[in-house]
Amino acid sequence: MTTTAPGTATATTLVGHWIDGAGVPVDQTRTAPVFNPATGAEIGRVALANQSETAAAVSSAVAAQLTWGALSIGKRAGVLFRFRELLAAHADELAAVISREHGKVFSDARGEVARGLEVVEYACGLPQLMKGELSDEAATGIEVFTTREPLGVVVGITPFNFPAMVPLWMSPVAIATGNAFILKPSERDPSAANVLARLWQQAGLPDGVFTVLHGDKDTVTALLEHPDVAAVSFVGSTPIARHVHATATATGKRVQALGGAKNHGVILADADLEDAADHLTAAAFGSAGERCMALSVAVVTDEVADELVSLLADRARAVKVAPGDQPDADMGPVITAAAKERIEGLISSAEREGADLVVDGRGLQVEGHEEGFFVGPTLIDNVSPEHQVYREEVFGPVLDIVRVSGLDEAIELVNANPYGNGTAIFTASGAAAREYRRRVKVGMVGVNVPIPVPVAWHSFGGWKDSLFGDSPIYGPEGVNFYTRPKVTTQRWPARAVAASFHFSGDSEK
Ligand code: NAD
Repeated sequence: MTTTAPGTATATTLVGHWIDGAGVPVDQTRTAPVFNPATGAEIGRVALANQSETAAAVSSAVAAQLTWGALSIGKRAGVLFRFRELLAAHADELAAVISREHGKVFSDARGEVARGLEVVEYACGLPQLMKGELSDEAATGIEVFTTREPLGVVVGITPFNFPAMVPLWMSPVAIATGNAFILKPSERDPSAANVLARLWQQAGLPDGVFTVLHGDKDTVTALLEHPDVAAVSFVGSTPIARHVHATATATGKRVQALGGAKNHGVILADADLEDAADHLTAAAFGSAGERCMALSVAVVTDEVADELVSLLADRARAVKVAPGDQPDADMGPVITAAAKERIEGLISSAEREGADLVVDGRGLQVEGHEEGFFVGPTLIDNVSPEHQVYREEVFGPVLDIVRVSGLDEAIELVNANPYGNGTAIFTASGAAAREYRRRVKVGMVGVNVPIPVPVAWHSFGGWKDSLFGDSPIYGPEGVNFYTRPKVTTQRWPARAVAASFHFSGDSEK
């Protein structure tokens, strides 16, 4: 088996770490399989970093950050601009790598690269972002100014469902602001991270500023406990987000930990139902429902529920499920055999508990890909909050229909849910949309927009069990997260000013 850092997992390759600007020999006793979800075949393996590999990655990052953090803002911005060009030029290569290991359709993988690119473009505005604030003549002969400084070495631990976009939510902002960034990507689709490492290097980023350390929970533990790691950005499931937040804050690190979701789309009686059905279908089944902003629950007012369910059923049946590299595919497989089994189990639980299975995606066979991890679009009507399929995050192509009497009941339902990532309302009424936006306890709200992922110059973050640590990701909140303020109060004495034993009060200014 050959060890390789850049590139894609193949049957003979082991996706390795990228430390200090190069692929390194890896501990061959700790590896995990990488599958092509469309065929079910193992297509390679990924290294899982041990304690000493983790220590080597951190110490290289510590050394690199000292120089990088001290470099002028203009020089750092130059690297970001070159990285932006390289990422745009290699978007197809990256999308193909993502599609192969994740299973999502190529155009969707291309879309995730485009959303990541937006964050790089935002980080190119680094001179503006790092400008700071100054109060001239705050007291006689005194100015007070705030500068922002990098934290040092920061770690990003990312999920399988966006193997390029989520690392790009973090790394451009962390690096632009002068930190060294260690990426611990998902072990399920590891190769995109190594493509990013290669592009950062080609952009002129000094070795050690962007590191890829592949691994599992032991690797994560070693990173969370390492005294030289200053901050941790985590995106993944809620139980692990909660654990990462508790563990890393206990060791004094700054932490943002984004968790899972159960996103509700509310459809009021005055909505354009055809339009809502189109958007709900794409938002529920796109990327096989493996999006943290997927709409997995449609909350429908009774008067239009029958009509909407019928429109959704037609659309769900028309979704083309196929391997992600087929140009006409709408939706690919789910990530693993275990995920397929879990999703199908949740569909069965809904049937057992009395919900109505309108479209059943269990047991779907895709011709020529019988061993692939496919689950078909599934529509379940008359779901209630007690049902397991409602209580758990399914993270698969399953749309629940919950029927309600009107807006008040819809808001009550959404607010009672422990998650608060995203939500959408479909209506023709500005007043109803405004009422919903103001009362709903969710971090990101769409009005006739199904997946309201904020653009890069706003910030992304849910509420409640969808975010631990209060700090949303990328955008202005990302800059704040990856820097800390320093406030200097300065006086250059040109004449004698009497020293005072008291803080100056108003009359003394
Ligand atoms: P996951 O929680 O299983 O894994 C995320 C990361 O944590 C991976 O890098 C993994 O190696 C690591 N990890 C796994 N188990 C661990 C453990 N016990 N201790 C320490 N680290 C561990 O998530 P996933 O299955 O890769 O991704 C899907 C989940 O991510 C879904 O719940 C989805 O909603 C969520 N997600 C959330 C957002 C968001 O912005 N809120 C975005 C994308 C995905």
